[in-house]
Amino acid sequence: MHDSLQVLLSQEQIAKKVEQLGRELSHEYQGKEPLMVCILKGAVVFFADLIRCITIPVKIDFMAVSSYGKATKTSGVVQILKDLDSSIEGRHLVIVEDIIDTGLTLNYLLENLKSRRPASLKICVLLDKIECRQVEVIPDYQGFVIPDEFVVGYGLDCADKYRNLRDVCILSRP
Ligand code: 5GP
Repeated sequence: MHDSLQVLLSQEQIAKKVEQLGRELSHEYQGKEPLMVCILKGAVVFFADLIRCITIPVKIDFMAVSSYGKATKTSGVVQILKDLDSSIEGRHLVIVEDIIDTGLTLNYLLENLKSRRPASLKICVLLDKIECRQVEVIPDYQGFVIPDEFVVGYGLDCADKYRNLRDVCILSRP
């Protein structure tokens, strides 16, 4: 039996939204040269499109995080697999994430990054499963609110598969 994929957000819908987010960020960070931080791996496609829709100078960096497993789903402890390359003290940071579900990953990341004293710290997320939140995390820039379904594509995976799909699709397994 094969996985079944149902398009939730088409590439056209996504492109329109990413352009809009890029315009907003270009406007709000005028003269600030923000540091755009991509959370690997899921946000990589969104990130690549988003930074090209930003018309002001930006710098980029990457972080990779992973949960410690089931126990951490509730504790919210995440492991930093790859940290930022340089200090962020005094910089304007924009965290670019693919999806917020429980909020535990971003909550941990925010606390960790805040302690490094950036000038400002904001979140830009493509997909938000608001109804699944366990801790309060409110994105400053948000693409789409989506239902509590497991989605893949546009960078999001299931066991490292489907990241290269152009649309965001709901995955159902037989
Ligand atoms: P949170 O800590 O907010 O519960 O989870 C965030 C992370 O869980 C995301 O960065 C992503 O890796 C994963 N995740 C949550 N929901 C989905 C989903 O529907 N599809 C995929 N592929 N990953 C998800």
